[in-house]
Amino acid sequence: LVAFLLYVFGLLAPLSQLTEGWTGLNTGLAAVRRIDEIESLPGESAARATRTERRAAPLGVEFRDVAFAYAGTRAPAHHGITFTVPPGGLTALVGPSGAGKTTVFALLERFYDHDAGTLTVGGRDIRDWPLAELRAALAYVEQDAPVLAGTLRDNLLLAAPDATGAELAAVLTRTRLDGLVARLPEGLDTQVGHRGTTLSGGERQRVALARALLRKPALLLLDEVTSQLDAVNEEHLREVVLELAADTTVLVIAHRLSTVVRADRIVVMEAGRVRAVGTHTELVESDALYGELAATQFATEHALPRG
Ligand code: ADP
Ligand code: MG
Repeated sequence: LVAFLLYVFGLLAPLSQLTEGWTGLNTGLAAVRRIDEIESLPGESAARATRTERRAAPLGVEFRDVAFAYAGTRAPAHHGITFTVPPGGLTALVGPSGAGKTTVFALLERFYDHDAGTLTVGGRDIRDWPLAELRAALAYVEQDAPVLAGTLRDNLLLAAPDATGAELAAVLTRTRLDGLVARLPEGLDTQVGHRGTTLSGGERQRVALARALLRKPALLLLDEVTSQLDAVNEEHLREVVLELAADTTVLVIAHRLSTVVRADRIVVMEAGRVRAVGTHTELVESDALYGELAATQFATEHALPRG
């Protein structure tokens, strides 16, 4: 009960404030124990089941002749692109820097309105979606996922303040952040970000992914990290992404062969156009640019030029 009250209070006010006087006791081990306790709280699993039932069905996406130019630019970022992402599964966007991959995400988030063509999300014209509803259905994990000043817990619950302790614990396990939480001096209540514990690129992206998962998105947009610093964690991230694709639509801007070979379909973009769509095996045979990417950048697992 004490742990439960502490935890509930922790949701309202950062636990670090509460424990400032005895931070020495608040070890990584304590953090792990706290997660275990949260997980075994009576009633939590029932609450989670209800929320899980309310998870929105995965959303498909269709770009049909979509054209778009950023204001004040001469060359359009998209010259009439066409591709379909069925609901569920893993779709990878690949192509050289400047191909228009990030712009696909920007249009889906409706940071910009496309100029021509049709863009549908879940079979509904993107312009017919109330913006708040669209953005609630989508989660966008950026390449340089920001970690904000505050505790790790604050960072995770940012977009889902009503997430239950069981959900948080499940997401930490799923994104393999449980090990990080155990290592941090104050567990979930460790200050991170600016002037806090520095997280690696891979850790930051897993924090952003965990934050996104707590929102139960129907469409997950993921711009894969390119850093080589965190190979083991990034392998975990790829496993997590594959698991996710079982019950949500995952669209990933992929920079690694190990991601694209496992994708259900790959959309190859170049200079604002879709060159080809297919599986890795198909594209290695049929698309010269893809073959080149697979043989050079992807194969050596070196990051593509950022973009
Ligand atoms: P990728 O993610 O494949 O590297 P982007 O979608 O970021 O490609 O960019 C596509 C094109 O649009 C590029 O020519 C890029 O310079 C341009 N572009 C991207 N973002 C902006 C922006 N905010 N303003 C103007 N031009 C942009
Ligand atoms: Mg990009």
